[in-house]
Parts: sequence; structure tokens; C-alpha cells
Amino acid sequence: MVSALLLAPAAHGKTQYSIQHIQERLVNEPLAPITVILPNQMRVSEFRRRLAAAGGVMGVNLVTFHNLYAQVLARAGQPRARLSSPVQVRLLRTIIDQLCEEGRLQHYIPLRTKPGFVTALRTIIEELKRARIEPVDFSAAVSGRNDHLSEIAAIYARYQDWLLEENWVDPEGQGWLAALALDHNPQLEAGLRLLVVNGFDEFNPTQLGVLTLLAQRADETIITLTGDLERPHRLAHQRFQRAQEAITTALAIAPGPLPSISPTSILLDHLETHLFESPVQPITQALNPAHFIESPTRASEARAALRWIKTRLVKDGFELSDVAILARDLTPYQPFLEETAAEFGMPLRVLGGLPLAENPAVAALLNLLSISALDWPRRPVIAAWRSPYFDWSAEKISPADAVSLDSASRLGRVIKGLDQWRACFELLVQRIAVDGSMIEDEDPINLHLQQEDGSDLKEKFNVFVSRITPPAHGSLRDYAAFIENLIGDDPLLATRYASPEDDDSLKMVIRARENPATAERDLAALQAFKDVLRGLVLAEAVLESESLTYADFFVELRGAVDGATYSAVPESGVLVASVLDARTLSFRAVAILGLSEGEFPQWASEDPFLSEAERATLREGGLPLESKLHGDEATFFYQAVTRAREQLLFCRPSLADDGQPWEPSPYWLEVWRMFGEPEIQYVRPEDNLSPEQTASAVEFTQASTELDPHIQRGISILTSRLSSAAASHPHDGNLPELSAVFSSRYAAHFGWSASKLESYGTCPFYFYVAYTLELEPRTPPEEGYDARMLGSMLHQILEFTYQRADDATDLDTCLQLMPQIAQEVFETAPADYGFRPTPLWEMQQSELTTILEDTITALADISQGYIPSHFEPRFGMGEPSLVLQTEIGDVRLHGYIDRVDSGPDGRLRIIDYKAGSAAILPRHLEEGRRLQLPIYALAARDALSLGEIGGGFYWHIGKAAASSLKLEKYPGGVQAAFDRALQHVGSHVRNIRAGRFSPYPPKDGCPQYCPAIAFCWKYTAKGF
Ligand code: SF4
Repeated sequence: MVSALLLAPAAHGKTQYSIQHIQERLVNEPLAPITVILPNQMRVSEFRRRLAAAGGVMGVNLVTFHNLYAQVLARAGQPRARLSSPVQVRLLRTIIDQLCEEGRLQHYIPLRTKPGFVTALRTIIEELKRARIEPVDFSAAVSGRNDHLSEIAAIYARYQDWLLEENWVDPEGQGWLAALALDHNPQLEAGLRLLVVNGFDEFNPTQLGVLTLLAQRADETIITLTGDLERPHRLAHQRFQRAQEAITTALAIAPGPLPSISPTSILLDHLETHLFESPVQPITQALNPAHFIESPTRASEARAALRWIKTRLVKDGFELSDVAILARDLTPYQPFLEETAAEFGMPLRVLGGLPLAENPAVAALLNLLSISALDWPRRPVIAAWRSPYFDWSAEKISPADAVSLDSASRLGRVIKGLDQWRACFELLVQRIAVDGSMIEDEDPINLHLQQEDGSDLKEKFNVFVSRITPPAHGSLRDYAAFIENLIGDDPLLATRYASPEDDDSLKMVIRARENPATAERDLAALQAFKDVLRGLVLAEAVLESESLTYADFFVELRGAVDGATYSAVPESGVLVASVLDARTLSFRAVAILGLSEGEFPQWASEDPFLSEAERATLREGGLPLESKLHGDEATFFYQAVTRAREQLLFCRPSLADDGQPWEPSPYWLEVWRMFGEPEIQYVRPEDNLSPEQTASAVEFTQASTELDPHIQRGISILTSRLSSAAASHPHDGNLPELSAVFSSRYAAHFGWSASKLESYGTCPFYFYVAYTLELEPRTPPEEGYDARMLGSMLHQILEFTYQRADDATDLDTCLQLMPQIAQEVFETAPADYGFRPTPLWEMQQSELTTILEDTITALADISQGYIPSHFEPRFGMGEPSLVLQTEIGDVRLHGYIDRVDSGPDGRLRIIDYKAGSAAILPRHLEEGRRLQLPIYALAARDALSLGEIGGGFYWHIGKAAASSLKLEKYPGGVQAAFDRALQHVGSHVRNIRAGRFSPYPPKDGCPQYCPAIAFCWKYTAKGF
């Protein structure tokens, strides 16, 4: 029994030494029992490959700790069924329900149904078990406390009791039992010649216990660890130091130096020796092996990294297995890497599994399965008809039917519920019978319905409903069978006795196979989804669950899928992994992403279920619970940079996800100084690449100078639009060639509304899209009223109240009258304005009535001495128009003035109601964005001859307050406000006639109601 703990810095030959030692042993004793324990399956494969390449792997037992536990128990004659992940989730959920019903959980009742709660509990139980803390000890340590810890103790105790009673074991418990088996049976694993432990950077108490017992049996034990005897307290080695202390204590051995093999790479040697050491030692090599790229966004950063990797493959002749891309947190980069790698034609091997719920095929299936549980909501139903993953041919539903269904649902204002769908089809049938078509002919989408028979669509919908309606009650097995039947079989695996007619499924597997680019990924995900279903069925069998409703089943399924991952790792490809998953691998070239502040090193955060203070208290009580804030980030960075043998790329985004500048990480600065502060390459999406620098056909096309004229034209349009220079391109909204058309359309006889002119003042392209092209966004039906409907309702109530009041100056009369009028308006509002009332509609009516009471009271307050004299007077549209004499001649205007009051001096005051609360400031008139008030005042005076104007304001109904823009307070007074408005009206009309429609987003961001928001290249969100 000889044990050795051998230390060497990273990349100093620890694995090579272990392999050599195994080979030497096998030379003398070819069948010697040898076990090698490695940290993960990836590392097992890599070690096996290297051992085989070195001459032999036969008979050597390569395992992770979890495999080892199972082996030990099997050899001890105590094999146990291991709890699979879905069964464990279901078990914990059952226990939580039981404890809630018994009244033993109070603190966690609000989290009871949240999928994340079970995940967090699993993590805590795993940690307690890894630390070998028995439920009884944890309960004792928290006894007397009446908080969440005592509830965790109750859950843990019930969970462990169930495992013992039912003879099941979880992965961590398997380690406990393996240690017990080794302890009780000295013959177990006796005869082990050599035990090798390689690649670890930490050991938990269970692992240490098993390792100690095995080392006592093995002739020889060799444990290799990263470390440096001469510099034992290096910051970069902090995590290894803890692992070293744990081993020396458990095995009572002292560390010694590994017969070192110096790294062949100058890059590695320099990084390994000097990282986080002071003073900083810049590299002296002429050809610097490290590169630094800064790019504005994660997307452009991922693209730059992949381009660098592709250069290594194409120009340097590296193999796919020679390169890797690492990030501390891969999640935000994964979609960008996948998308760009597909464009570059580079296969990726993403380690660590992909979230199952995010796979497109699984997402489509979950959407379909949610429909009946969520009461047939409009959007998911249409998405299910459109999805390429479902074959609806048996139901005679085609993709064109999805378009018809969309139009019909808009007509019927369907939100959800079979009643609404049925009413919608009735309306559709009636409308087609009466009009011969559904809606306006010019709507190209709705044209389709002219050729459709409304009852045909209804029939298809009914077939769809019966096809995807699950049993209302059933067992997990029933629901799993129902879903399996929807998914369908894999025809490549079908038995020779099956016939195609047997399959009445949606043929998801066949559909997934139809797209070669995504087939492998989607099939792997569907397989993982089926595994989740089988796990749930197994859980039911094990836990003897009762039948449940479909809604409960769907919550269960969703929780299980949310916690599951799938793996579609091709045999070869560029390895993409989180830094933690790649800790023991080695490559010729590595790109490290995300070196900005807070990303790497990651901000340390407390565990909300077991805080640092609680951990400290429990430690004082004797429980070996570790702090979660070890400060291991420096070690992780050391592990990341020492993965590269020849070339390293450091990348960082310079803008955060919210567009704010993002500072570099201290680690970025550290390595940048270590490499002599080399030039940082700034890569922006709009940079011109030379054809040699391009990595895909798309990039080459953009970079090429001799292009198809159509492509060239597209590029010049896009470049012009993205350029920050003043707009001069027709495709950027500058259309002087069409000025004759616009001059004719908007000639002196054209009738303008104030809102049209204001939209031009807000943004010329907004005016062009809304009023010249007359485009409107197709908004889906929504529950409740929108801002426009609210404004109309409030306007109407105020107008009727003042009109019907015998004395509109008498506050009490108005307040008495208003609720009755409001009630009349509210009663028919859903039909008049076209919205579906929500369950809150009753409450909203009473809130709106209170708002109107406040606004009428406040208006009366500032109207002492004023008499309301006109409500909604009209100018233009049959009445005299307002004709303004501007710099470009007469401009005619029309509109409705909300209210005109007569002041004590006989002059008039104009009031314009606003339902929105956005501030209206004098500068908005100055900038030409708010013209309505002075225009209406001029109309009252000049078009309607109501009298001289003394002032005016916008009235914010919700705030019960006047706007800060007031005509009488405008610098220079009312006349100055008129002059300014006149100037803007002339200038807006002149520019419109000249065809100047380039987009200029307002300083405070684009208005939400601009119809160009969905496609405008200058869209700026509010707050930027
Ligand atoms: S999105 Fe903004 S910039 Fe574009 S047209 Fe609308 S308001 Fe103008």
C-alpha cells in the first residue's frame, strides 16, 4: 500500500505520467487490476484515447466516481435501483405536496408549484449528501428554528426515509453505500494493483471516504493534482490547494513533486508561470501567440471568434479536434455561435447539453400540448397549424388554412376559449353569406377567405380540436401514450409488420428528418423528450400516483422538460464548452469569450436557500457545510487559459445587453499586460472585410467588389441605411424624384389634420409610412381596451357630461350626471370600440369613474370665472376650414376642438383632452412635434369666428392636470405660439411635398404607435 500525491503545474505532464506509469505496470503484469478515476465522462473518453494511442487500454478500468460506486455495490452483491432524474423530481414534488397538506410547510407554500423550487431542493439535498450530512443531523442542527431551514430538514428527512423504505438510491447516496460496503467487507476490491486518480480540482467527503478505503486496498495509489510545491499559495492554485489539503488529511500523505515534463509551448509556459503573479512579466517572444478582439455585442464577438477559429483550420491546417471555444457562461453565446457556425459551415460540438425546452421541435410540441390546458388560446392554435413539425394532412389542414384561421380569429376577436372560436366561425359564415367576402378586398391576407367556405374552416377546426384533446382525467401512462401517439414512430425503426396506415400520428419524426440541416438535432431532442415521458411513467409506477387532470399533468411535464437537457454532439466539430466543462482538456488553439466585467470573473452570489450566514451557523454546530463563495474564479481562469498549447484568442463585448458601455474584466487586463499590451483588434459588424478575411459565402458576397447588380444594389441600400451620415439615398426615405407626385397629392386643396402634421414633426418616416403608404400594424386581438380606445371613451364621457349639464359650470351637477353617462358609454364600449372585456372590466369602470370625478373636479377648480361655451366644435368637413397662410402658400386644416371656454375678459381658452400621461412641454411646440393646440386655437378664432384667444392647454385626464405647454405662457405669449406653429406647418408641408421622409427618431425614443417600428432601421427604444 504505497500512496503518492504528485503535484505539477498545469500542462506539465500529469496525464502523460499517469499513462506511462500504467504501461510500466502492465509490462510486468499484463492482467493487473488497475482502476483510473477521472472527473467526468468526457475526460474518460479522452484518457481512453490517449492510453490506447500509447499502447494499451485492455483491462484498465476507467471510471468516474459515480460509475465506481455502482461497480462497488454490484461486486458487493448490493445492486440498487438508481433514482432517475424525472423520478427524483416527481418524488420531491409528492413529498412537498404531502408536507403542505400536513401543514408542515408554510414558508415555501408560495413556491410549491414552481419548477425552479424542486430544482433548488435537489441541489441542496445533493450538497447535504455529498457532505455526508445525515437527515437526522441536519434536523437536529436546525431544531428550534421555525423557518425555511426546518422545512428543508423535513423534506430531506421524508425523502431519505422513502429511499430507505423502498430500497432505492440516488447518485450521492450510492457513494455512501459504496463506502459502507467497502468498510464492512475488506475483501471487496482487494487485489487492486494500481489506483490512479487524475484530473480533479476538488473532492467531496463521500469521494474522499471511498478513495481512502480503496487506497488501503491497492498496492499502489497515485493521485496527481495541479499545484506547485515551490509556490504553494499562488492565487491561481487556490482551488487546487483545498483539494490538496483534503487529500493529505484523508490519506495522511504528504505531497511530492511529479517528475515534471516541461511544457513544449512557450505560450503555456509563460501563462502558467506568470498568471496572477506580480510584478507582471510581459512575454518577450517576437511572434505573440495571444490575440485580443473587442466587439460591440455578443453576436459580433461570437462571429469574430469563429472567424479566427476558421482561420486556424484553413490557413494553419489545424484539425477540428485541435480547436475550442470556451466561455465562463455559455448560455448567452450559444445561439449566436450556432447560427454563425452554420453560416461558416463549421460543425460544433457543444458540451454540457442543450436546454430541451428550447429545441424548436420540442417547443412546437409543448405549444401544441399546452393548447387544451390553456383553454385554446388564439396564438398557439395558429402556431400549431403553421408548424412545419406537424403533418395535419389526415385532418386536411394545410398551411394556407393557418392564414385563413388567423384572419378569421381577428375578425371574431378571438382571445381564447372554444366558445369564442365557435362564435367566430358563426360570424365568418354570416359575413361571407352576406358580403361574399370577409373584409376589405385590398387586404391581401383576407382575400384568401373569399375563396374559402367558412364552414369548411369550422369543420377543420373541430377535427383539430378532437384530435388534440386529451382525456380530461388519466394516469401519467395514459397521457404519455396520448403524446407518444401524437409524435409518432420513427419509420426507420418500424417493424416489418407495421403498415403506414397504422400511423395516425402527426409524424413528427418524419417531418424532423425532412430538414437535413436540423434533423440530427431535432431527433436527439425528440428522443430526450420521450425519455422524459418514460421517466414520468416510471415515477408513477414507483410512487403509485393517482390519476390526475390534464392541466396538472401538463404542469408536471413542463417542469420535467424545463429541467432536462439533450445532447446532439456530432462525432467531430469545434468544441464549444463552458470553462468548467473543459477544465481537463487540451487544444492547439482556444478562443475565450466574454472577458468583460462581471462575466469572468463571475459575480459571486449567495445561495438564497442556504445563505452564507446560515452556513456559518451550521458549521459552528458541527455540520461540514462549505461556503459557496470560495473565490475560485482565478483558478477557473487559470484552467481556461492553460487549455491552449499554441494560440489563444481573448474576446470581449464592449456593450452590455442593455446597450451600456461594458468595462473589460480584470482578467482581460491581466493577460493583456502579460502579453506586452498588444494591439487590440476592434471588430464592428459594419467593418468591410477583404475577400481573404471572409468566412462564409454571405461574407464573401458582401466583401466582393464584382457582384451581381441586384446584390450590389441591396448592399448599397443597406449600407446607406446603416450609415450615420445625413440621409441622401431614396431607400433612406429621401425621394426628391417623386416631389411632383407629392406636390400634387399634398397641394393647396389637401385637407390636413393636426395629427398628420405632428407625426411629420415627430419623425418624417413615421408620417410617410402611416399617411402616405397608409400602412397599419396588424395587431392581434387582445383582451381589454388599448390606449386609443381608452382615450375615445373618456373623451366621449366628458363631452356628453358637459353637453347635457344644465349648467356646465356647476361642479355638483356635472359630478352627479357623469356616473350615469359613464355607465351608458361603458355598456356599449366593447362593441363600439371593438375589445373583449377582461374579468377586470367591472373594476376598471369604477376606477375610470373615479378618475373622471377627479378630473372634472380639478378642471372646475382651474375654471373659476370661465364658462364652457363649445364642445367638440368642428372646423372643415362641412364647416369652414382653417386656412393658414404659410411660407409655401395656403394650407387647409380640419378637426374637432375638445372644448372652448369663455374667460372673464371674454377671450377664449382652448382645452384639448389627453388620455395619456406623457408630459407635453413648450419645447415640443418649439420642435414642431405638438401643433394641435395652436392650430385649434387659430381655428376657433379664424375659421369658426368664436372670438379672440386668451390661452389654452392640453388637459391630462388621468393626472387631472394641465400640460406645462400653455399658449399664454409660451415665450412671447399666444401670438408667438401661433407664429411658431405657422412656421412649422409651412416647413412640414414644404418638406413633405419635396419628398423628405428620412427617419429621425425622436430624442426620447420612438413612439410605440409608430407603424414602422417593426421594420424601421432607425428604431430607437424609449429610454436610449
Ligand atoms: S421607428 Fe422611429 S425612426 Fe423609425 S419611423 Fe418610427 S419614429 Fe421614425
